[in-house]
Amino acid sequence: MDAAVQKQILETVDKLARERVLPRAAEIDRTDEFPRDLYKAAGELGLFGLWIPEEYGGIGPDMATPLLISERLARASASFALVYSNCGDACTPIVHAGAPHIKERYLPGIASGGIIPCFSLSEPGAGSDAGGITTTARREGDHYVIDGRKCWCTNGSVGDVFILFAKTDKEAGNKGVSAFVVPRDTPGFTIGRDEDLIGLRGSPATQLQFDGARVPVDHRLGEEGEGFKIAMVSLDEARLNCAAMAIGVATAALETAVAYAKERVQFGKPIIQHQGLQFLLAESAAQLAAARSLWEQAMTLVATAPGRRSSSFAAMAKLVATDAAMQITTDAVQTLGGYGLSRDFPVERMMRDVKAFQIFDGTNQIQKMLIGRYLEKFGVPFADDTPA
Ligand SMILES: Cc1cc2nc3c(=O)[nH]c(=O)nc-3n(C[C@H](O)[C@H](O)[C@H](O)COP(=O)(O)OP(=O)(O)OC[C@H]3O[C@@H](n4cnc5c(N)ncnc54)[C@H](O)[C@@H]3O)c2cc1C
Repeated sequence: MDAAVQKQILETVDKLARERVLPRAAEIDRTDEFPRDLYKAAGELGLFGLWIPEEYGGIGPDMATPLLISERLARASASFALVYSNCGDACTPIVHAGAPHIKERYLPGIASGGIIPCFSLSEPGAGSDAGGITTTARREGDHYVIDGRKCWCTNGSVGDVFILFAKTDKEAGNKGVSAFVVPRDTPGFTIGRDEDLIGLRGSPATQLQFDGARVPVDHRLGEEGEGFKIAMVSLDEARLNCAAMAIGVATAALETAVAYAKERVQFGKPIIQHQGLQFLLAESAAQLAAARSLWEQAMTLVATAPGRRSSSFAAMAKLVATDAAMQITTDAVQTLGGYGLSRDFPVERMMRDVKAFQIFDGTNQIQKMLIGRYLEKFGVPFADDTPA
């Protein structure tokens, strides 16, 4: 994307975050209500169109700008940053693998914010081991009949269209997974309850149930057995997005902590002048700067040289940024002392919000597993001669 256009979009996002999102952040957390008005506002600004090609009503697809938007929104509200960015995870499979009539039917509405898409892979018995899903799609004439249970579907209870992953061949492991586009009003499809979470409240994580749900064959994405590949297509971007949100929240937490430490006086001077606390904040600043640099490096690699090396950088960026954010938000609470635990200040919410970033888009143990596998096969990814 042209740098001047990107700058203009980011200025608009900063205004939205400052004037509309930040004043609502505590209330969204308290009520756990999906911020439909903010979703509409983001749609009116064209922010969902960044993942979608022009011919289908978007201005993309563009990788970097939505990541930069997520980081900015997360400074105001991690929950709304997820509500926004989940659209990218969910619509990218349609952009990559949808038949033309599916793209025409759904992408313009998604771009405008009128249709909310969701991504549904995880199940009660299959999280990290996504190939172990047991939801099935059985072909019957010109339909598939879908049976099974899904969980943790972000924006599920407000979603209009679901990218669903189900087994068309139970014996074929990952190669037996296929992807489908399932409209909300499909008979046999029931939206279940939202989880009651400690953080990211307002961004629903929903259970789904399929009892003989009939989905037309032309709503399959790609060929039978290509579902796992389709699910993985935007995984590097999803991990970079998770890192983006973590960095956004950590930045806001550190800003709050520093401002408080300059004001709060104990033992006759502002607490920032006590070396013990200064060191805590200095460590946070260094961790944040390191996480941001790695994230930027990973974004450049994924955009310019996609491959195994860039994927290992995306995994490292997710791991480092989310662990840093957990530490930085926890230390921000420590900096504010007892007030850090009070809902009158935002840092306790930030600490609760970032925990999920260490868990979704592959837990941090799974990121280490991926990085470890790369090391075993190819060596250290910093060397110029490691394979792309
Ligand atoms: C807020 C939120 C939103 C989400 N949104 C979505 C969504 O929109 N769509 C969707 O499909 N899913 C979504 N998820 C689900 C998410 O992807 C899973 O929670 C995640 O993949 C982990 O799966 P699990 O919770 O079943 O944990 P498990 O896989 O059961 O893991 C439990 C623990 O065991 C560890 N572990 C597992 N395997 C290994 C291993 N091989 N080596 C070492 N440690 C291991 C894990 O790291 C973890 O600590 C969401 C989750 C959350 C919390």
